[in-house]
Amino acid sequence: GVPQRGNQEILQLRRELLNPTLSVSYREPLKIVRSEGIWLYDQQGQAYMDMVNNVCHVGHCHPRVVAAGQAQMAQLNTNTRYLHDNIVEYALRLTATLPKPLSVVFLTNSGTEANDLALRLARAHTKARGVVVVDHAYHGHSPSMVELSPYKFNGKGGEGRAPHVGVVAMPDTYRGLFGEGPDAGRQYGQLLAPAMAGLHQRGVETAAFYCESLLGCGGQIVLPQGYLAQAYADVRAAGGVCLADEVQVGFGRAGEHFWAFQCQDVVPDIVTLGKPIGNGHPIGAVVTTPDIAASFITGMEYFNTFGGNPVSCAIALAVLDVIAEEQLQANAQCVGNFLMDGLRDLQQRHECIGEVRGRGLFIGAELVSERGARTPDRQKAKDVVEAMKDRHILLSTEGPDDNVLKIKPPIVFSQANAEEFLDKLDTVLSAERP
Ligand code: PMP
Repeated sequence: GVPQRGNQEILQLRRELLNPTLSVSYREPLKIVRSEGIWLYDQQGQAYMDMVNNVCHVGHCHPRVVAAGQAQMAQLNTNTRYLHDNIVEYALRLTATLPKPLSVVFLTNSGTEANDLALRLARAHTKARGVVVVDHAYHGHSPSMVELSPYKFNGKGGEGRAPHVGVVAMPDTYRGLFGEGPDAGRQYGQLLAPAMAGLHQRGVETAAFYCESLLGCGGQIVLPQGYLAQAYADVRAAGGVCLADEVQVGFGRAGEHFWAFQCQDVVPDIVTLGKPIGNGHPIGAVVTTPDIAASFITGMEYFNTFGGNPVSCAIALAVLDVIAEEQLQANAQCVGNFLMDGLRDLQQRHECIGEVRGRGLFIGAELVSERGARTPDRQKAKDVVEAMKDRHILLSTEGPDDNVLKIKPPIVFSQANAEEFLDKLDTVLSAERP
């Protein structure tokens, strides 16, 4: 087997041999060797509650998903130029979860690849090149997606906004431009038109508007009602197509709906999927309309060596089965609401919780040093994450000020798990210094 090394030796070898930009989680890094459900186990067999991993969606190492992958690996793995049942079955099952016009599927190996391909589709369909994105968004790691990710291009090492990219302010009702009124969604949506006009002035027309259905890197932001309806109407009036990036939030996590864009009562032209789709196995997808798919028929074939292979499709099918059979979308809604209610109770007693927000099991708690002024408290968020880790609960932080506790566990997360978390968080927040 593989030699078992101590943490310090692994860290040293990472420094010597691996991507030098790669960070590790936590001050004292964890070496995780095994997992099950919502639990990660270190080499001493100590259990940690995973409240961060929205990839191992139906639970780490779900036996049904593992068995589906193992069986198909032992039977056949090929590319998609042979006929196979798994890929067409998956396309049928996936499109059955989506509104009708979203009926053509492209399978990829990651969220980045899905968003990259979607850009090609949008450009082929509109004959335009420009893209409007939401501030602080992340859409992927390829050169074209870094250009569409303010989180990267405006961050350390970033090269700033490219000329074909427009950026609109985050529709953040806690800190943003328009407050919390009922009209905020429409007002934020109206920022699309000036962003597209700005592109036009630079000689660039708008091919697409990329927007996550709940904003992840932006800090677990719930879009205000009416936001996408207004934005989509204006993007379409200008000839662009509308993309919902569901890479983080799709597949029932939002609770109320299977797809988080459905909370906004809109139908996108393109949806991109990743992370939870294969419960940790690398697969991604683009789903679009027959019209847009037809525009992509230019004579050039799109072929993806690993995308849509029988093993990936067997795994993705098992994920859909488990979500349905274990009623995990309903669980996400029920436990998510319980968790948010519990956090709001803690907010009554702990001045540092400025806002609790979320949908289903995609939740953020924004930590502030002064509730009235809403001053972001990055250090507090960091300290809370470390103190919770000491109590074997894994969280992370997010948002432009890195002060939002990010909660997005596998959606098998139970009410008992939520109670344990809330109890420990109460203890940590009650300590003089967590
Ligand atoms: N879109 C969103 C919203 C994401 O959160 C991510 C990954 N964090 C991606 C796209 C890129 O996915 P991947 O890492 O699978 O390429």
